[in-house]
Amino acid sequence: MKLLIVGGVAGGASAAARSRRLSEGAEIIVFERGPDVSFANCGLPYFIGGEIAERKKLLVTTPEQLRTRFKLDVRTRTSVESIDRAAKKVRVRDLASGREYEEFYDKLLLAPGAAPLRPPIPGIDLPGIFTLRNLQDTDHIKERADQGVKQVVLLGGGFISLELAENFVRRGIATTVVEKNDQILTPFDPEMTTPIAEALATKGVTLLLGQSAEGFEQTADGLVVCLNSGKRLPAQLVVMGIGVRPENKLAVDAGLEAGPRGGIRVNEYLQTSDPDIYAVGDAIEVKDFVSGDPTQVPLAGPANRQGRIAADNLFGRTVKYRGTQGTAILGFFDRTAAVTGASEKSLRRANRSFRKVYIHPAHHAGYYPGAEQMTLKILFQPETGKLLGAQGVGGAGVDKRIDVLAVAIQAGMTVFDLEEMELSYAPQFGSAKDPINMAGFVAGGLLRGDHPQVDVEAVLAVPENQRPLLLDVRSSQEFSAGHIPGAVNISVDELRSRLGEIPRDREIAAYCQVGQRGYLATRILRQSGFLASNIGGGYKTYLLFQPNES
Ligand code: FAD
Repeated sequence: MKLLIVGGVAGGASAAARSRRLSEGAEIIVFERGPDVSFANCGLPYFIGGEIAERKKLLVTTPEQLRTRFKLDVRTRTSVESIDRAAKKVRVRDLASGREYEEFYDKLLLAPGAAPLRPPIPGIDLPGIFTLRNLQDTDHIKERADQGVKQVVLLGGGFISLELAENFVRRGIATTVVEKNDQILTPFDPEMTTPIAEALATKGVTLLLGQSAEGFEQTADGLVVCLNSGKRLPAQLVVMGIGVRPENKLAVDAGLEAGPRGGIRVNEYLQTSDPDIYAVGDAIEVKDFVSGDPTQVPLAGPANRQGRIAADNLFGRTVKYRGTQGTAILGFFDRTAAVTGASEKSLRRANRSFRKVYIHPAHHAGYYPGAEQMTLKILFQPETGKLLGAQGVGGAGVDKRIDVLAVAIQAGMTVFDLEEMELSYAPQFGSAKDPINMAGFVAGGLLRGDHPQVDVEAVLAVPENQRPLLLDVRSSQEFSAGHIPGAVNISVDELRSRLGEIPRDREIAAYCQVGQRGYLATRILRQSGFLASNIGGGYKTYLLFQPNES
């Protein structure tokens, strides 16, 4: 069998290595347009910032190693220009010499990735405006930063921009992030990004939401980024991190099917509309694991796994790709934000029913030094409790919880399963009731009717005179330090003796700091005949929805 692979980084290199392990006899040629194969895209921002000191650490493997160890014919600086499906051959250009030639295939695997968007904004080609995809881009950005840049503008508030923001701050460069939407990190629900937006501010990053670049001008000092708001931002270095588009030209020109957003269409075996051509990675359209809808998710984990699965199928095994959950994580200094599965936004857009809970537990036992608070939000089906999605933000321990929840979603588990999960515990690692169990208890209590809850934004969306009575059951000191406007304060410890002060003809929405005392208050009130609910996640959750107050 003669296998040609287009693209030699995440998906392509994984597929090539797996293919060789499955077939010692196959002829395998990997074409890579750039000079490097299998480099660590995900490490690039940290080389710019200096956290990764040696450039060579970013080269996970070299063409020579792939040749020696895997007997792969690796052709770097070589671009595949077109596919002739009828003749089963590709046209190839050696970029160094300009020589063109043809190569026949039995099977072809496309792993060309996705290219950063670079819209035709006036001035976009001025020096100092970059995108970041590979080591060459990294070299150019680092070189510019090394020249003594004072101000950086990062366009787009996604994962790559925020990772770059951390690294420019580390270098002492004044950094501004401009995001067209009204939130950063679009896979998250807006309120869950509040702590990260606060962390940006704490580290001195200027965040401009709801604005976008409409032009660039050259000045004596570098550049000016002109925003649609009229603001003009001086900068000596600009990085566009506004998204990527699948590199689908080869596929589309060859008549292969692609989805509306350009992703090459594949079946569950990662086979394109031509059974002899497979495709993987950022270039393809995948099935959303939760909704089943077609989507595009440019992430390294899925690309690597798809490469492996495609190789299995190419060499006679029958392996299905299950779909992509979009499990992703951001580190910004000591803050972590992670997400998996469906968001509230996506569920609302698709008109799917869901319930949600927020909890704010410590990442390990509170009595053990160094406990850090996190916020977890889980989304689940109201009828069955089946998990649909989860988001976490905080410091240590968020990664572990989102990974557990990602596995739970993949296993089709419910919030009731979270109540039962047995997780490792010693005080420096977790709690006897782990945050995962707590999320299950709160969600399970909601679905069983033991713990009626209301969402704070739903309560506040109602005109004031129609709202339930907001009952703050924290201490008077906590109440004076800040409370939801219009709330009255009766501490949970005094509640039983002051029930006479609470109207019986009005719904009550109780709340505390994180939800626990509010839950107890709700139980007391319900058993005393009041129509009471708890505001899920308490005042902390309220603050997530008030990005300028907390
Ligand atoms: P790529 O890895 O992009 O490889 C495609 C290769 O194909 C390219 O090198 C390209 O030159 C080559 N190619 C394209 N067309 C042709 C052609 N016609 N002929 C020859 N060669 C061709 N994901 C995460 O999950 N976590 C992270 O922390 C993370 N951080 C990232 C940070 C940065 C700065 C970047 C840029 C990406 C990051 N990603 C991260 C995304 C991740 O790197 C990608 O999802 C993954 O690399 C996609 O793999 P791929 O094989 O589809 O494409």
